[in-house]
Amino acid sequence: MVDSDPGTAERWPPGYRCALSVTIDVDGRYGEANFRPDDMFWISQTAYDPRGTERLLSVLADRGTKATFCWVGRAAEDQPLQVRAAVAAGHEIALHSWDHRPYNRMTPDEQRADMQRSLQALRRISGMTPVGHKTASWRYDDATHRLAQELGLLWVMDEPAGDVPYLIQPDTALPSLVQFPPSRWFDDYTFFVDTVLPPQQAFEIWRDDLDVLRDEGGMM
Ligand SMILES: [Zn+2]
Repeated sequence: MVDSDPGTAERWPPGYRCALSVTIDVDGRYGEANFRPDDMFWISQTAYDPRGTERLLSVLADRGTKATFCWVGRAAEDQPLQVRAAVAAGHEIALHSWDHRPYNRMTPDEQRADMQRSLQALRRISGMTPVGHKTASWRYDDATHRLAQELGLLWVMDEPAGDVPYLIQPDTALPSLVQFPPSRWFDDYTFFVDTVLPPQQAFEIWRDDLDVLRDEGGMM
């Protein structure tokens, strides 16, 4: 179900023309370990993840910017102090699966258990209850969002079907979820892993995208 578009004038609170959401997926070693299981070169590169997370927390503090950290459950258990540091700095903590396995290769029961385990770990570590879910590598299926409703979550971020958030309600007996549209073109992996661009070029691509979305009242 897609919400009717209220038009740009009423879409955002008074005084705001667009929305920019900064989301940081903390995969630890588990993203690459599932994606390229026997390739120690790529898995070893993820050893920088804790230092990188510290660096991002510091950049966000410098800029006075709040972000959403989508934490892989096992990575949160590996670095609980970083989860607490992110919460203490006012950032949102969201779910990003237990160990970054693709949900479209799991049964609905396995997905449910994976989400519950991740939710319980993040709740125990952070003292907060996450309300959002970004599926690992955006590999969701028909069951994923119904299960997110079942778990009482408020938002998901998996499907790039537009330039503004919209409501979905796969289970009509449960409250709707907000779907925030992601894009591989807004993702650093596209520019710094799939290919390698100078940061200035990636910045220019993202700045131009944001300029258009600002004119149109969109979200990035
Ligand atoms: Zn990830």
